[in-house]
Amino acid sequence: MKNLVSLISLDSYDDSKIKLAIESSFSRFEMDTIIKPEMKVLLKVCLPESVQPDSAETSHPAIVQGVVEVLSGLGAKCIIADSPYKSFTQSHLDSVYFKTGMLEVANSSDCELNHNLKTFSISTPSGVKTKSLTLLDVVNDVDVIINLGKIKLDEKLGYLGSSANMFGLVPGEVKTLVLNRLNTIGDFNNYLIDIIDALKDKLIFNIIDGVVAIEAGNSQRMLSCLAMSENVFSLDSAIIKILGLDYNNTIIKLANERAFIDIDDPYEIVGEDIENFKLDDFALYDYDLDTQIHKNKRKQKAYFYSHQERPTIKSNKCKGCAICSKICPTNAIMMRYDKNGELYAEIDYKKCILCNKCYLGCPYNVVKLKTPLAYKRLHKKINKFNQEKIDSK
Ligand code: SF4
Ligand code: SF4
Repeated sequence: MKNLVSLISLDSYDDSKIKLAIESSFSRFEMDTIIKPEMKVLLKVCLPESVQPDSAETSHPAIVQGVVEVLSGLGAKCIIADSPYKSFTQSHLDSVYFKTGMLEVANSSDCELNHNLKTFSISTPSGVKTKSLTLLDVVNDVDVIINLGKIKLDEKLGYLGSSANMFGLVPGEVKTLVLNRLNTIGDFNNYLIDIIDALKDKLIFNIIDGVVAIEAGNSQRMLSCLAMSENVFSLDSAIIKILGLDYNNTIIKLANERAFIDIDDPYEIVGEDIENFKLDDFALYDYDLDTQIHKNKRKQKAYFYSHQERPTIKSNKCKGCAICSKICPTNAIMMRYDKNGELYAEIDYKKCILCNKCYLGCPYNVVKLKTPLAYKRLHKKINKFNQEKIDSK
């Protein structure tokens, strides 16, 4: 059951067809036994920008409305949420809700739009790209998350499907910081897996809208596909197969390596035959997991170092045990002698990749994380804005 993927053909955003399609897919997953009356559901839609629904960049309101109506029929209370790029502020959210058609969905159905502007941090000890995440606090207001993404290919980040939609739970300002410290598409995808792993107890279901998809070159393309699964990686595997991408160049390879999916048996299709959705000429980017995200490496590095927490070692506190220098993956820590002939560790920031292994591994708690001024200023601004909003309520 866990790797079941339901595929339904939907050739338009005609409201009457959408509801039927969702109901028939939901029955395959026995959603009426999963969704309990009064359950609070975060509907994680895709609203990266303030654009009209027909751009195909954002969740189509007709699909969101259909999902809300079916979930409401099962007794759920839905909250529509996402954080657009750049800023997670009330005025920006209002503009996005209005332009993307979400305001209309909320006005004509039994659901709320998220106005909780708080964020929270969660530690991710088993994370590969990060040991802590900053996420939207609305996650804590709900019982479960249903992930409602779009099928898109992005010039910078490659395939953006169901897993990538979870990146929207990172607040807009923080997204920019995160992207600036990731180097490759593989890094980005490992970061997505870290988010999904952290939220695995709440993320119960995934839906992807591929009625109209975005192909390489940022053109819209009819795929006529609505797909669903309980397993976000099974869903992405099926879509990746439809688009004609190679698993080894996508998140599926990493999810397989991290034992979230079996690449040799990633899904079982119910509904329409997967072959019916394949297009021979769907335009693809020639990207793999090692493709660099940032063209201007110098600019990225400067931004990265001015905004990212970094490890620091005070030579007079260091015990000289050299453990950090042995665990550093880039040999960025040298052992030196001070004027009294005592050994101490010194970090070469030109080599440091800010993995924080030295911070976690120092047995004497000598390695500290220092927050740069630019990062502090940004967070002060966000916290002040959030507090003003809370106070004004
Ligand atoms: S943060 Fe990672 S790369 Fe940098 S010095 Fe510490 S262990 Fe080495
Ligand atoms: S692990 Fe800690 S105490 Fe040991 S050398 Fe590194 S910083 Fe110094």
